[in-house]
Amino acid sequence: MRRHIAGGNDFTYRLKGHRFGTPRRRGKYLWLPLEDSGQSVLAHLGMSGQLLVQPNDAVDEKHLRIRVRFADELGTELRFVDQRTFGGLSLHDNTPDGLPDVISHIARDPLDPLFDDEAFHEALRRKRTTIKRALLDQSLISGVGNIYADEALWRSRVHYERPTAGFTRPRTAELLGHVRDVMNAALDVGGTSFDSLYVNVNGESGYFDRSLDAYGREGLPCGRCATPMLRRPWMNRSSYFCPKCQRVPRVVS
Ligand SMILES: [Zn+2]
Repeated sequence: MRRHIAGGNDFTYRLKGHRFGTPRRRGKYLWLPLEDSGQSVLAHLGMSGQLLVQPNDAVDEKHLRIRVRFADELGTELRFVDQRTFGGLSLHDNTPDGLPDVISHIARDPLDPLFDDEAFHEALRRKRTTIKRALLDQSLISGVGNIYADEALWRSRVHYERPTAGFTRPRTAELLGHVRDVMNAALDVGGTSFDSLYVNVNGESGYFDRSLDAYGREGLPCGRCATPMLRRPWMNRSSYFCPKCQRVPRVVS
């Protein structure tokens, strides 16, 4: 789904003569509705992709992959630039809600005004899973990656393997509050980046990694209790936590 399978010429043909509607976003997905077509152009930014609005006469970026010219008189064009080749643009039919069909299963992110806290809590209670898996389950909540999950769990003093079935409404509310705080704090400084290729539209790298309390802090003192932080392998990634503030849940059979 990353690229338009029928190829560049077909992609061009299908876009021609259409007008882009207001760009929309859900979680890490960004799309441009194609008015009067029932379809959308979905952008996959990958790790280094950028969707830029540039003056027509701006020098081509070194890694310019796709250029969309407009028939209006504004003198700007849309460019997809990607230093790597993980990203791309693809065309999809929309669901009745106006989502590209390939992301219809993606839940709203917690910064979305229409995110439903109560529905999320109910889903947590129903699901036989553990809290970090739930936070990274994009059918429940989107936009929360491994780093932000560890940060929010540390702030909430919740161990990543705590079963969600036992979550009370206040606990869910507190956790969601911390998830939102972490995401907003990261957005304020331009996101988190450990990779110089991952940049914002102005070509700047994020600095949130400088203010992380949990992620990447193995062996360093917990910011609350000074206990050395631990790292554990978790689903091909890592989980960082404070063994004192975030107690391992007792196994309930
Ligand atoms: Zn601690």
